[in-house]
Amino acid sequence: MNFGESDAERGLRAEVREVLRTPPVRGALDDLARAMAAGEREPDVRPLYRAIAAHRLFAASWPEEYGGRGVSHLEAAAVIEELVRGGMPDMLQVLSVQIVGLFLLEAGSPAQRARYLPALASGELFATVLYTEPEVGSDLASLRATAVRDGDGYRLSGTKVFGLKSGMSDIGLCAVRTGTGVTKYEGISLFLVDLHADGVTRGTIASLADEQYDRVELDGVRVGADALLGAEGEGWSLLTRCLAIERTGLDYSLKAARWYDATLSGLAADTADDALLEEVGRYGAAVDAARLLAWNSISQLGRGPLDPTSAAIAKYHTSETAQQVAYWAALVHGHGYGLRGLAPDKAAVLEAGYREGPGLTLSAGTSEMMLELVASSGFDRPDVIGGAGDGPQI
Ligand SMILES: Cc1cc2nc3c(=O)[nH]c(=O)nc-3n(C[C@H](O)[C@H](O)[C@H](O)COP(=O)(O)OP(=O)(O)OC[C@H]3O[C@@H](n4cnc5c(N)ncnc54)[C@H](O)[C@@H]3O)c2cc1C
Repeated sequence: MNFGESDAERGLRAEVREVLRTPPVRGALDDLARAMAAGEREPDVRPLYRAIAAHRLFAASWPEEYGGRGVSHLEAAAVIEELVRGGMPDMLQVLSVQIVGLFLLEAGSPAQRARYLPALASGELFATVLYTEPEVGSDLASLRATAVRDGDGYRLSGTKVFGLKSGMSDIGLCAVRTGTGVTKYEGISLFLVDLHADGVTRGTIASLADEQYDRVELDGVRVGADALLGAEGEGWSLLTRCLAIERTGLDYSLKAARWYDATLSGLAADTADDALLEEVGRYGAAVDAARLLAWNSISQLGRGPLDPTSAAIAKYHTSETAQQVAYWAALVHGHGYGLRGLAPDKAAVLEAGYREGPGLTLSAGTSEMMLELVASSGFDRPDVIGGAGDGPQI
């Protein structure tokens, strides 16, 4: 498939490959590889990120005043694709830059942008997303965490679960209730919470995947009025914009491609197994389509807010494909991998992918919720489909 790469994208990819060879970045990548080989499941990626961010490549699409390079979203996606190909684990970058940072760029006040964006672009600060609560996942508008007025600020209380990377993050984009209204969508507000503040307790929830889930308790955490994003009680419309940003599908399509390539690396080039060749073709086409859908979402981002329906389509196909490829790898190479000549590094990638697979079609909005969003778009009786707009989320 020809994605018609521009000269600028090719130039950026070459620069990234160069940066990946510089001693600070190479050293940080080697440290990560050593930690993982020693059995550490979630090594600290921040030194690597800071070494990359020193080249202004971490948030390349952001304006220069905020630590970016002002390149297009497609060019920035090419940078991330090349970094991931070079071995950069992307989850903390996705959360800090591609979700919280992009959202701040779109919806933050000038003061919030000036305060947080340069720090996120340089790797001085990292951010995570705190939406899900015990018993509140797909139906996010039923959230129960609260923010109550306290002088010129607020106090936040509640429990947030299943976030990722909170332990390595400094700020959390947090959805809470500041009031009630006629519908459950009213009275929701978004805050940026300092995760080092008094009253914040962070713990982990065991996960099958390498990345552990977090549990964040907020016990009367004091924030200033400047921590509020948008208007009080009107966070739902902001949330739906932020949820679309999470669903470009770029991260899932990169996983699908990585796992597909690792699977092929262990196959004999001259295999005459027709059934296997048919699967190679079928999954290859799905991986190509995943990349195309993700790049389509990203090119939309450059033109304005992402259309929630096309974001849902991209999220659905990219996450389902990545999951299927991870499971297919296990069928092809057998349990425990290492069978049929997989190199140890490829075997490790596929083993971790198999464990990550189940979460992909839940995170950032479950597949069922994505199908519901697509099915109800353009349908003039959303009530028949059980309330389109209920926000399936990260
Ligand atoms: C890898 C991973 C990363 C995550 N990262 C974060 C994060 O950073 N921050 C954060 O806040 N949360 C995060 N989450 C949590 C995630 O948003 C929730 O898991 C998700 O919203 C689903 O919520 P739930 O687990 O409570 O499942 P539920 O909402 O209880 O859903 C259970 C099942 O029922 C289905 N279902 C629910 N409602 C309907 C319906 N109306 N119609 C049809 N089917 C339905 C769902 O599709 C799903 O299959 C993450 C989850 C995963 C797996």
